[in-house]
Amino acid sequence: MKICIVLSTRPEIIKLSPLIEKLKKNRDSFYLINTNQHSLKKMSKIFFDFFKIKGKIKNINPSKKSQSDFFSDSVSLISKILFANKPDYLIVQGDTNTSLAGCVAAYLFNRGLNKKDKIKIVHIESGLRSFDDSMPEEINRKIIDRLSDILFPPTNFDLNNLKRDNCVKDKKVFIVGNTISDVLKKYLVLTNKSKILKKLNLIKRNFFLVTLHRPESVDNKKNLTKLIKALKILCEQYKHPIIFPIHPRTKNNLKKLNLSFDKRIKIIEPLEYLDFLKLMKDTRIILSDSGGLQEEASIIGTPCVTLRTTTERQITVIKKVNILAGYNKKKIISSVKKFYNKRISKIKDFGSGNVTEKIYKKLKLLSN
Ligand code: UDP
Repeated sequence: MKICIVLSTRPEIIKLSPLIEKLKKNRDSFYLINTNQHSLKKMSKIFFDFFKIKGKIKNINPSKKSQSDFFSDSVSLISKILFANKPDYLIVQGDTNTSLAGCVAAYLFNRGLNKKDKIKIVHIESGLRSFDDSMPEEINRKIIDRLSDILFPPTNFDLNNLKRDNCVKDKKVFIVGNTISDVLKKYLVLTNKSKILKKLNLIKRNFFLVTLHRPESVDNKKNLTKLIKALKILCEQYKHPIIFPIHPRTKNNLKKLNLSFDKRIKIIEPLEYLDFLKLMKDTRIILSDSGGLQEEASIIGTPCVTLRTTTERQITVIKKVNILAGYNKKKIISSVKKFYNKRISKIKDFGSGNVTEKIYKKLKLLSN
């Protein structure tokens, strides 16, 4: 089987790393297309380097003038590569503009071809739904699921979303868990090598970890202002350090909107994976609008307060390891209070570290 994986962003590199490692180990024929959606070294190169993903990467440089320029350029540049080097499978992960572009490029390539000549489009982390169409990621997820041939939803919950969207007919669908559980199985044990607690002068379970980057939180002045106020109250009520590795989008927007966080909040550059993992493991509570952090926190057993009004990781809320607090300061503070003295159980819904193996076996089987 010959595989093309289209990726670029930090979560894609992290979550696809075990599959890439597996393909490399088994000497399968594959190549990667990096759209450079994330191009800053600390959001991209350090992750490619950490997971030892090198060679076999075709870099494209779509315009970033606007999202539509990025999308149309990406589709066109990916198409050219697919025509020159046709794979059996094109794999995308999650809900980024990169995944959408990869998927659409393969879909257009396939038009008018006989079934046997088509590229099979594979969506890993399929079926997630926030039921909030104002999120760009929600639209991406829906289109990718619709256009893909092979879907790997993490949980039964996600499979039901696909059924509800009438998105399983004529497709191969397999519940497998989430590859992040493989990543955590391998790397959590290595976090004892990290010196980040010492570097930031932190005591285990005596600090909060914050991340923010979604358009609805950081592009929207009203919501960002609410979050700034809520975190200020947190500084006042708890004397713990608050560590905030800031996403470049958030940093830019603070400047643009002329806003700033309370001086007591320690804003640092985005961290490399092992250091960040160590903070997720040792923090008292994670406060974030990230999708991936909700999963990682629930697997590690760290409580998560999600700074959004909707989530596509509902299973973590149902299992009571994540509270959806939105932008409401009262709800954010009461959620922190609720989790503050509580130990939560790790959840197993995203798998226990054998997800890549399951995906790999299915792809092998379907290629014969
Ligand atoms: N992450 C990291 N360093 C940081 C912040 C996040 O390595 O400073 C990792 C985190 O562990 C997770 C991924 O980046 O695996 C999440 O990325 P992000 O929140 O940007 O994206 P989302 O999951 O919301 O798509």
